[in-house]
Amino acid sequence: MDCVKCADTGYLVAPEGEMAVARVCDCQIPCPVCDDTRFSIDYSVTPPVTRPCGCIQLRKRIEKFNEAQIPARFHRSTLENYEELAGNQAKIKMHFNRYRQAYEPGAKGLLLSGIPGVGKTHLICGLLRHLGLELNKTVRFVDFFNLLDMLKSSWNDDKGDGDIMNSLASVDVLAIDEMGKRPMTAWELSVLDQLISRRYNSRKTMLITTNLAIETAGQSQNVKRRRLVDEVQERIYSRLIEMCDFLEVKGVDYRISKQ
Ligand SMILES: [Zn+2]
Ligand SMILES: [Zn+2]
Repeated sequence: MDCVKCADTGYLVAPEGEMAVARVCDCQIPCPVCDDTRFSIDYSVTPPVTRPCGCIQLRKRIEKFNEAQIPARFHRSTLENYEELAGNQAKIKMHFNRYRQAYEPGAKGLLLSGIPGVGKTHLICGLLRHLGLELNKTVRFVDFFNLLDMLKSSWNDDKGDGDIMNSLASVDVLAIDEMGKRPMTAWELSVLDQLISRRYNSRKTMLITTNLAIETAGQSQNVKRRRLVDEVQERIYSRLIEMCDFLEVKGVDYRISKQ
C-alpha cells in the first residue's frame, strides 16, 4: 500500500456539517498518473494512444457520493466494518456482500426490518457508499420524516415539491431510512405511495429500513412491535414485496449492549 491515509482508494470521507463528505486524497493531488492533464498515454500499443485518465472517474464517483447526503454520523460506515455481534448479523452481512457484488441497475432492493440499534442504517449507508464511490451509481439517502419536513417547508416557500420528488424518483438507488418509525397520517402515506409508485414504474432500486415487524403475528420477538402490513396501505405493501427482499436483522441493541 502506498498511501496509508486512503488505503489507495484515492478518496477520504469525513463529516462536514450534517453530511458525510468525500474528497480526493492528497496522494492524488496532483494526479500521479497524468500530472493533472486528465489524460494518459498508452505506449504499450503502436502507435501510442491517448486515453482519459482514471482520475476523471475518481472525481465523478466522489461527486456521486456527495450527492447521496449520507448523515455525518455514518461517515465511517462501510460493509467491511459492520460488526456482526449477535443474532443473524453475520448472515445479513454476507447477504449484503453478495448483493453488492451482483448489483446491476434495476436490481431488486432490500427492506431491512429490526429493532433499533442492530445496525440497519449502517448497512444501508455502507452499501450506498460502495455503489456511489466504487460503482459510480447515483444514490440517495433520506430519513423518511426528514423527507416529510422537506416537503412541508417546500410548500411553505411556495416552491412546490416537484424538485424534491423528481430527484428522489430519478436516482439509481434510493434508501429510505426509518420508514414507519411512528404511525403515519393519511398524507404521509400518500407521500410514501407516490414515491414508491414512481420508482416502481421506472423499475429502480429501493433500500428501506424500518422498525416495523415483517414476520407474522404471534412470534414472541414481535409481540410489542407494530407490523408493516398493518401500517402501510395494501397497495404500498404489495409493491414493497415486489420491489424488495425482506430481511429481518436480529441482534442486540448496540447502544444498550455497550453500556
Ligand atoms: Zn491517499
Ligand atoms: Zn490523472
